[in-house]
Amino acid sequence: MSTSKYIILGGGMVAGYAAKELAGRGMGSGELVIISADDHLPYERPPLSKGFLSGKDTEAGISINSSEWYREHGIDVRLQTLIEDVDLNKRRLRASSGESFDFETLLVATGARARKLDCPGSDLPNVFYLRSIDDSRKIRARAADSKQAVVIGGGFIGMEVASVLVQKKIETTLIIREDRVWSRVFTPAMSEFFERYYSSRGVRLLKKEGIASLQGRSRMDVLLSGGRKISCDMVVAGVGAAPVTSLFAKTGLAVENGIVVNEYLETRETGVFAAGDVANYPDQIFNKRRRVEHWDNAVSQGQHWANIVRGERQPFLHVPYFFSDVFDLSYELWGDAEGATQTVARGDLSSSSFSIWWLKEDRLVSAFVMNRPDEERQAAPEWIKSKQTISPKRLADQNRTLKEAAQA
Ligand SMILES: Cc1cc2nc3c(=O)[nH]c(=O)nc-3n(C[C@H](O)[C@H](O)[C@H](O)COP(=O)(O)OP(=O)(O)OC[C@H]3O[C@@H](n4cnc5c(N)ncnc54)[C@H](O)[C@@H]3O)c2cc1C
Repeated sequence: MSTSKYIILGGGMVAGYAAKELAGRGMGSGELVIISADDHLPYERPPLSKGFLSGKDTEAGISINSSEWYREHGIDVRLQTLIEDVDLNKRRLRASSGESFDFETLLVATGARARKLDCPGSDLPNVFYLRSIDDSRKIRARAADSKQAVVIGGGFIGMEVASVLVQKKIETTLIIREDRVWSRVFTPAMSEFFERYYSSRGVRLLKKEGIASLQGRSRMDVLLSGGRKISCDMVVAGVGAAPVTSLFAKTGLAVENGIVVNEYLETRETGVFAAGDVANYPDQIFNKRRRVEHWDNAVSQGQHWANIVRGERQPFLHVPYFFSDVFDLSYELWGDAEGATQTVARGDLSSSSFSIWWLKEDRLVSAFVMNRPDEERQAAPEWIKSKQTISPKRLADQNRTLKEAAQA
C-alpha cells in the first residue's frame, strides 16, 4: 500500500477549495487523495437552500471543480467511500469496504450533519432535512407536488427554505420555538423587519411553538405543543447541525464541540489538521474558541491549510462572516456580537436597505449590511479586524460618511 502525501477526509467545501489552493501552489500529481462518503464531487452547499432548491442552479453550476480539473491535477477523489476507522499511530484510515489509506498529512474535513427533530414522526417519508445535494433534490421533487408546506426552525436554513417554497406558490407556514426569527443573531428590530417582510410575501409565521408530533405519510399533520394541528404535504426541518466527530472519539485527539485545533488548524497530533464545520479553533481576533458552520470559514480554512502545508505556516486570522439570500434580499454579517454594549443602525429599517453595527466599548465587534453602499461592506470586516474605535454618534448620523465615524 502506498502512502499519500496529503489526504483530505471529507469531500465537501473545505476539500474543494483546499484542493484548488494546493494545485495553485505547485502540488505534484498523485500527492492528494480526497476521501468522501458523498456520491458527488465537492460542491457549494449554500445553493442547496437557494438557487438549487428553486431550480435555477444546476449540479454542474454548483460544483467547486470539474472532474476534468481533478484529473488534470492528478487528484484522486474517492467518492462513496465511508471511513470507519482512524489509526493515528499507523497514520491509516480504513474504509467500510476494508480498503486502507495511509497518509503523511491528514486534513479532517468531515463537516456537520443536520440535526433531526426530537419528536415522534421525525423520520416519516415526507419529513425532510437539508444537508446534501440529494436532500435538496428530494425537497424540490416533493415541492413540485405540494400545495402546503411546514418549515420548522427560524434560523437561516428555515428562513431560506420558506422563502423558496412560498415563491413556488406553496402555502408555507414557518414554525419557530423562539419568540422571534433568528433571535440568536438578529436584534429584535431586525427580526421584526424580516417577520414583516415574510408576512408580506405570504409566509405564515407561528412563534413560540414546539412540535409535539408528526403524523401521516402522503398528507401530514403537524401537532404543535400548544395543541394546534396544521395539515400539509411536506415538512422541512432546519433545526441546527452537529459536527461529525465520532470517528475521532478514541484516537487521542481532543474533541469538544468539534475537533480542537490550534491557530495553525493543527490538532495535538503533528501533521493532523481539521478545518471547516468540524474544527474548533482559537479565534485570534476575539480571543476565544469557536466553531463556525459557514461557507466563508470552510473556504478560508481550506485555503489556509493548503498554504500551511506548502510551507507558509501562519496563524489563521479571520473575521467570521456569513451571507444569506432570501426573496430579493441579500445580506452579510461579520464578527461576533456577544458582549456588545450597544447597536447603531444606518439606513432605514422600514425599507430593505439598512445596516446594524454592534459596538463593545466603542469598538466594532459585528456588523450586518443589506443593500447598502459598498463602503459599509468594506469597512465592516476591516474595522472589526483592526479593533478600530468608533464614534457611535457619528456612525448613527446619516449625514456623515462612514470614515467620519472612525475616530482619529
Ligand atoms: C443547505 C445549506 C445552506 C447553506 N447556506 C449557507 C449560506 O447561505 N451562507 C453561509 O455562509 N453558509 C451556508 N451554509 C454552510 C456551509 O455550506 C458549510 O459551512 C460548509 O459546507 C462546510 O464545509 P465542510 O467542508 O466543513 O463540510 P461539508 O461541506 O459538509 O463536507 C463534509 C464532507 O465530509 C464527508 N464525510 C463526513 N464523514 C465522512 C466519513 N466518515 N467518511 C468519508 N466522508 C465523510 C461528507 O460526506 C461531506 O462530503 C449552508 C449549509 C447548508 C447545508
